[in-house]
Amino acid sequence: MKALVKAAKGEGNIEVRDVPAPKIKNHDDVLIRISAAGVCGTDLHIYHDEFPYWPPVVLGHEFSGLVTETGNGVTRFKLGDRVVAEPHTHFCGKCYLCRSGNIQLCQEKRSPGWGIDGAFAEFIVMPELFLHRIPDILSDEIAALAEPMAIVVTGVLERGKSCPGDTVVIVGAGPIALLSVAAVKAAGAKEIFVLGTNADEEQRFPAAKSLGADRIINVMNTDASAAILEETRGVGADHVIEASGSAAGVNTAVEAAKKCGRITVLGLPGEEKIPVPWGDMVKKALDISFCFSSSVSSWERAISILSSSPGNFNALISHRAKIDDWKKVFTDIETGKAIKVLFVPERIK
Ligand SMILES: [Zn+2]
Ligand SMILES: [Zn+2]
Repeated sequence: MKALVKAAKGEGNIEVRDVPAPKIKNHDDVLIRISAAGVCGTDLHIYHDEFPYWPPVVLGHEFSGLVTETGNGVTRFKLGDRVVAEPHTHFCGKCYLCRSGNIQLCQEKRSPGWGIDGAFAEFIVMPELFLHRIPDILSDEIAALAEPMAIVVTGVLERGKSCPGDTVVIVGAGPIALLSVAAVKAAGAKEIFVLGTNADEEQRFPAAKSLGADRIINVMNTDASAAILEETRGVGADHVIEASGSAAGVNTAVEAAKKCGRITVLGLPGEEKIPVPWGDMVKKALDISFCFSSSVSSWERAISILSSSPGNFNALISHRAKIDDWKKVFTDIETGKAIKVLFVPERIK
């Protein structure tokens, strides 16, 4: 089968290869034919050698698919079921993180797409344990957003304790920021601000609007902190979601939060160290929570949010592409010409 492979360590080193299709090895394995697979910022970090990976490895960790074969111990899924999968493969089950329900942070974890072969291919094998059924109302394409949505649910709802009536500021306008709009809306936010740059004007700002953002601020032509203070009568936001991963974004998040407010950090920075206004954070008595990967408990809730108004999420999917076009896709994401790109495998009709 054709697959997009990170072939070796270093910058670049990505190529389309013909690789053997994966096979069922364990009694609880499920063979899944990929329906759609989302390209993520993490894939770009792997391209630039800024995220751990074990080459040669098939990229891709956000996907939906169809069950095509099951191991003899599989009891909850059958041929033809449509599924998504938590990417928490190889957790040890023994460490304090696994024992406390945080398998997503286990040291032994090797997710599909960087630790083991992933979803930018025709097939993937996953243990039954990680699978979730796709409701009929959800298309394969929107279902492929389940993994990033689960991250948002973990960060914004579970750790960030999003509340009904919150005034929320979302810093950034990429896919995670846009899914955050939907999550805080579902949690009953009163008013949602989304902050972005000129690169977000064409596609991402309109998508933010269609997902429920009330006010869009381009930080390149508006003083975002001043505008938020003005709109909140000098108080600031109840909840700020930092989804840019940038130094400027982190500082804006602190400025926008009210005293005793909450900041949830979802943005993945690059290698550089980000200076933070520590004194202001202390004086504001902020509650800050960080989030990395998705909790087990977030997945069904993520699927429910996607299912509550699936049509709204079409605005996020800017491109459907073949893996042969990966180079253009990566460039379009990096230059803001794309929001979420899905690789849709070619089928022999
Ligand atoms: Zn991802
Ligand atoms: Zn563990």
